[in-house]
Amino acid sequence: MIDKKQPSDLDANCIHFRREIKVSNLDLAMTDTGHPEVEENITREHCPSCDGERRCQVRGHTYVPWSWSDDVNGFSMSGGIDHSLLQCLGCETVFYLHNSWNDEDFDYWVDADGTERREANRTKTTYPKPVGQRPQWLEALGKKDHDLKNILDQVYTAADAECLILASIGIRTAVDRATEVLGIDPTEPFVKKLSELKSGGWIGDTEHDVLSVVTDAGSAAAHRGWEPDDHEFAKLMMAVEMFIPRAILFGKDVLDVKKAIPPKKNRIKNKKT
Ligand SMILES: [Zn+2]
Repeated sequence: MIDKKQPSDLDANCIHFRREIKVSNLDLAMTDTGHPEVEENITREHCPSCDGERRCQVRGHTYVPWSWSDDVNGFSMSGGIDHSLLQCLGCETVFYLHNSWNDEDFDYWVDADGTERREANRTKTTYPKPVGQRPQWLEALGKKDHDLKNILDQVYTAADAECLILASIGIRTAVDRATEVLGIDPTEPFVKKLSELKSGGWIGDTEHDVLSVVTDAGSAAAHRGWEPDDHEFAKLMMAVEMFIPRAILFGKDVLDVKKAIPPKKNRIKNKKT
């Protein structure tokens, strides 16, 4: 909330923005009535399917301003939302863009003439949301163990929806399932399972410590509502994405290659006479 204030020179920028929107609405109306001279209404936005900025055709748009005031205490707040239906000109996906601003979130700067300017920061969300990349080995993992693949599918879905508490719990569940697939007794506590992974040669000292952190994080999320930030979650995810395909898909098969490698020949040293 901010103190209720009179319009100032700084509001000129907002007025300019609203005028732009009005022009956009006019263009859309002309497009809808089929005027051939209105060739296109194109914008550049983040396509959720391409997961990158693309030229998009505006299929529909409306701007809804809002305001709120507390006359007793003299506070007020206002903002607006652009609702747009867009179609990516790359992959042809049609998606909805929610593009909002409010008068508590502005960037300020001084232009070359020394005049203070401001511009509203915009928050953009698309529906559907961009789907993050899945590792290529996930399908192969499904053939090895459907339950483990299903757990990881749900972890990725939760992460895409920014539900990082649920995703962190899911990561711990994935490690738990992986230990079971490797033949470790599922009734053992996590500490014992990780210890058996190490003694069984599936992981080394460092990875044991890394997976301890991963499972502790999942436990903290499950029991104490701890939520990692994006950076922390990416590290947890990376640890699991390294452990699971190597242990489950490749296992110790690579050790069989050792039998095919010819032994080193002993080097005959020239003795000085
Ligand atoms: Zn696209």
